[in-house]
Amino acid sequence: MNTLLDAYANITGQGVIDHLRQLAAPLRGMKVVHVNSTRVGGGVAEILEKLVPLMQELSIDTSWEVITGNDDFFQCTKAMHNTLQGSRTRIPENLLATYEQINRDNAEQLRAKLEEADFVFIHDPQPAPLLSHCPNRQGKWIWRCHIDASHPFRPVWKYLRGFVAGYDASIFSLARFARTLPHPQYIIPPSIDPLSEKNMELPEAEIKAVFSDFDLDPERPLLLQVSRFDRFKDPLGVIQAYKLVKRFVPDQQLVLAGGSATDDPEGEAVLQEVKEAAQGDPDIHILLLPPDSHRRINALQRAADIILQKSIKEGFGLTVTEAMWKGKPVIGGNAGGIGLQVINFNTGFRVNTPEGAALRIRYLLHHPEKMQAMGHKGREFVRDNFLLTRHLREYLTLILSLHYGGAERIELG
Ligand code: UDP
Repeated sequence: MNTLLDAYANITGQGVIDHLRQLAAPLRGMKVVHVNSTRVGGGVAEILEKLVPLMQELSIDTSWEVITGNDDFFQCTKAMHNTLQGSRTRIPENLLATYEQINRDNAEQLRAKLEEADFVFIHDPQPAPLLSHCPNRQGKWIWRCHIDASHPFRPVWKYLRGFVAGYDASIFSLARFARTLPHPQYIIPPSIDPLSEKNMELPEAEIKAVFSDFDLDPERPLLLQVSRFDRFKDPLGVIQAYKLVKRFVPDQQLVLAGGSATDDPEGEAVLQEVKEAAQGDPDIHILLLPPDSHRRINALQRAADIILQKSIKEGFGLTVTEAMWKGKPVIGGNAGGIGLQVINFNTGFRVNTPEGAALRIRYLLHHPEKMQAMGHKGREFVRDNFLLTRHLREYLTLILSLHYGGAERIELG
C-alpha cells in the first residue's frame, strides 16, 4: 500500500522515515490532539493537514480539532495577532470578553477529549485559554506560537501570558521570536511541504506556460521576487537592483509577483509606487495573482533563473525556502530567518543594499555554473532542514522529552 510516509520517503530518503518510526515507536497508541482555529487557509492549517495523517501513520492516535468562533472572536484574535507582532492598539474589553466566552463554549465540546489526551498542541493565541477550562487534564499541554512575538505590545502579551504560563512547554519558530515563560521553550523553525501544490514537481509544459501566459521570453534571463507588496519586502530595492544590472545585462527580465492588495491600503500604496518605478520598462512585469495561485507561483519559481527576496525585515521567509527547494540561487536581504536559509556564498547571497543585490545578480548571470551549483546546494539544504519531515521529527522529539521528563538517558529501540 502506498502511504504518505512512502511518498515522503521518495523525497527525503528512507533513512529519514525510519528515524521517524524509531522516534514514534515509544509513543504508539498515545493520544495527541492538535487544536487551532481554522481547517483551511493559512500556514498552520497547511502544516496540520499533512502532519496529522503522518502522525496517524506512525500509529500515534492523533486528531485535529478546530475551535469555532464568531466575528467578534476573530476580530479579537486578529488584533491579538497584530499587537503581538508589534502594533500598538488596545483591544476593547468587550472583544476580550468574547474571546474568553468562545473558549469557554468550545471547551464544553472538547473537554472530555482534551482532558484524556496524552499531549495537546494548542496552536497560536486563538485557543490558548482552553487549558484553563480543563482542570482534570491528564496529559502535557504545549503552546505552539507560530507568530513573531519578539516585540509585542506589552498589555496584550501580559494578558495572553496569563493563559499560556500554565502550559508544560511552548514552541517558537525562531529563537528571537521567543518570550520568557515559566516553562521549557523549544525552537522549531517552519517547514514547507514538498508534496503541496506550491512545491510539488510540475510538468515541463506547465512551467513553460508561464512564459507565454505572462508575456515573458524563455530565451532571456528571468529574475523573480514573490512577495506581498509591502515595504519590508523592498520591491523598490529589487527594481533598483534590476536597473543597475540592466546597463550591463540589457536582456534580463524581472517579475514581481504578489497578491492583489485591495484589502490593504498600505499594500495598495506600495503597489502604486512599484508601478511608477517600473514605468517605461516593458521587461518589468508586475503580476497580481489570486490567493489560490499556488501552482502558478510554483511554476514561476521553477521558470526563474535567480530568485530575490530582498527583505529589509523578515519573519522566516517561506518564499526563500520555496525558491531553494526548486534549485534556484537566492539573493536574500540580510534579515530575519533569511539568514538561517541563505548561507552566504553557498546556498545564495545575502545583501544589504540594491547595489549589493545588483552585484550578485550580475555575478550569477555571468557564471551559470555557479547558479546551478548554488541552486543544488540550496535544494539539499532545504531537504535536510526545512521539510515537513524535519518539523515532525522535532515534534516527536519534544513529545519524547516531555514524556520521559527528567530521565537522564532515553533509549530508543
Ligand atoms: N505568497 C502567495 N501569493 C503572493 C505572495 C506570497 O501565495 O502573492 C505566498 C508565498 O509563496 C509564501 C507565503 O505566501 O508561501 C509568504 O510567506 P513568507 O514567509 O515569505 O512572507 P510573509 O508574507 O509571511 O511575510
